[in-house]
Amino acid sequence: MELGGIHHVTAVTADAPGNVAFYTGVLGLRLVKKTVNQDDVSAYHLFYGDDIGHPGTEMTFFDWAHIGSQMPGWGMISSTGFRVPDRDSLQWWKSRFDELGVSHAEIEEHNGRATLRFTDPEGQKLALVHDEADGVPGGTPWEKSPVLQKTGIRGLDSVELSVRSIRPTATVLVDVMGFRKAEEYSEGGHKVAVFEVGPGGPGARVQLVERPDLPPPVMVGAGGVHHVAYRTPDEEEHAAWRDRLRKAGLGVTPVIDRYYFKSIYFREPGGVLFEIATDGPGFATDEDAEHLGEKLSLPPFLEDHRAQIERGLRPLQTTAGGTR
Ligand code: ZN
Repeated sequence: MELGGIHHVTAVTADAPGNVAFYTGVLGLRLVKKTVNQDDVSAYHLFYGDDIGHPGTEMTFFDWAHIGSQMPGWGMISSTGFRVPDRDSLQWWKSRFDELGVSHAEIEEHNGRATLRFTDPEGQKLALVHDEADGVPGGTPWEKSPVLQKTGIRGLDSVELSVRSIRPTATVLVDVMGFRKAEEYSEGGHKVAVFEVGPGGPGARVQLVERPDLPPPVMVGAGGVHHVAYRTPDEEEHAAWRDRLRKAGLGVTPVIDRYYFKSIYFREPGGVLFEIATDGPGFATDEDAEHLGEKLSLPPFLEDHRAQIERGLRPLQTTAGGTR
């Protein structure tokens, strides 16, 4: 039994319209699902991904309009990396960011990988990383994206966790979740350890950065990340993971049916919320693949309350084209 890499990353926005404009219009991802947070139906849950939102390509957002901005701290996901095909495409993205006023750093080598760090309009820390050939198979950028397929984002590369101490999180990653330590180095005076799982490489990496200098964990805010999910192929292994986590003494939730996948959640000892999610059934389960994300999708148990739920949501234009 082995995790297949990163399934999705779920973050927080206080500006759904601006979020859609950035992730579709600037980054060229496809809005593959527009639904609500099952635990708070007054909030949108927006899913962006490749052409059909394959597992491993999805960045998702809860829309909490009245939440404050994310403050720095340890015990949180401090950056999310996306994969782009090669170094030339990084150069192309850098020009695009300049043209569209996206705040970004220079293209830098991070332990041998070319990386372009940038932020979304709410300060969400993101990076584009040169995709090596190996690793989890990349996704397929949507052909109707404003970004050409040859330079487009192929999915998630990695997440970076800022932790007070590397060891407790590393122990759970290795001893319970089956990760392997891939690299260890120092950057900017901070200890960094990289772990990978399953096929390893792009799509299967977690970077731990030791940051005892940061304040203790704070509530997740706009521009912050809520949790990261890892992939498991089917419900049988999903149940076995729940058993294993429980036996390791981690407080794990019951299996929750998210309708597009099944989920379990637990907090790793460094303070970050982890999820393990099944690869299926996927986003084309309740919508035609041609028309993903165009209408508000609700799981069957919420469908009876559609009128009331729709009244509680702000209008959201999701069909506007981006800048090519
Ligand atoms: Zn999730």
